[in-house]
Amino acid sequence: MLRLLAVLALGLSLLTAATARAQATDCTGDPAWAEAALANALSLNTLSWTPFNQAETGWEAYVPILQHEIGVKCDPAGGAFAAGLARFQARYDLPPTGVFDAATFIVLKGVLQERRPFVMARVRNECPDPPPLNQLGYLLPEEEHADRLTRLLRRDVLDAYRRMVEAARTEVPAIAADPELLQIFSGFRDPEADAARCAQQGNCDGVRRAACSPHRTGTAIDLYVGRMAGMDVDSTAPESRRHMSRGPAYQWLVANAGRFGFRPYLYEPWHWEYVGGGG
Ligand SMILES: [Zn+2]
Repeated sequence: MLRLLAVLALGLSLLTAATARAQATDCTGDPAWAEAALANALSLNTLSWTPFNQAETGWEAYVPILQHEIGVKCDPAGGAFAAGLARFQARYDLPPTGVFDAATFIVLKGVLQERRPFVMARVRNECPDPPPLNQLGYLLPEEEHADRLTRLLRRDVLDAYRRMVEAARTEVPAIAADPELLQIFSGFRDPEADAARCAQQGNCDGVRRAACSPHRTGTAIDLYVGRMAGMDVDSTAPESRRHMSRGPAYQWLVANAGRFGFRPYLYEPWHWEYVGGGG
């Protein structure tokens, strides 16, 4: 029995050491990456490009996801980040310069899209059927954002969402302190009601209310991750998305939502899709 306890204690201390190592990322960076780091520092807020369908300046809005993908939670203007970016580039047969550029972003975009079954269905020209109504559940009032469009989600998704929010509030005091953060402003959207609203408003709002929205599956959720003063909770203006990307809710989601089975959509910091599993 004592021996078993000793083995358990040793295992626990090893585990604690491993956790400590994982958390204490060394951000110093090899001097070999100084030049790439300088290029990234310069372009971070000045790069003129069109990553989606509108002109943007800089790439700060994408830093949290980049940090998560390359496994280096360090300043994007530093050497450790550049080295991590170079490893990512090498993995996907890009020149491993460590310098952020549009080509690297296109690969990142593709990598993320391939993790969303909905997107892959659309690539095959399929549009997933909505779930049977008996698989849907209602949000609790405190889970609904004031700007909500809908109040239903597929039940298993709702359960995963609840586990995720509980973890976020436990792990981040700034999220616990603001009950509005992570409230849902859109979940399941009935395809017919969506089409009717789109026709009535005479504005189908591009991607979001297109004929086949991921929200028809009951697995897509739009979460409140903060908003820029005077802007909508789902404003795609570059400055709005950059603002959201700086907040604690989005940064926590990028690092942790995967544990609960949710995947991000690079263009919309609020939009997450449940793919099940987790990890
Ligand atoms: Zn959405």
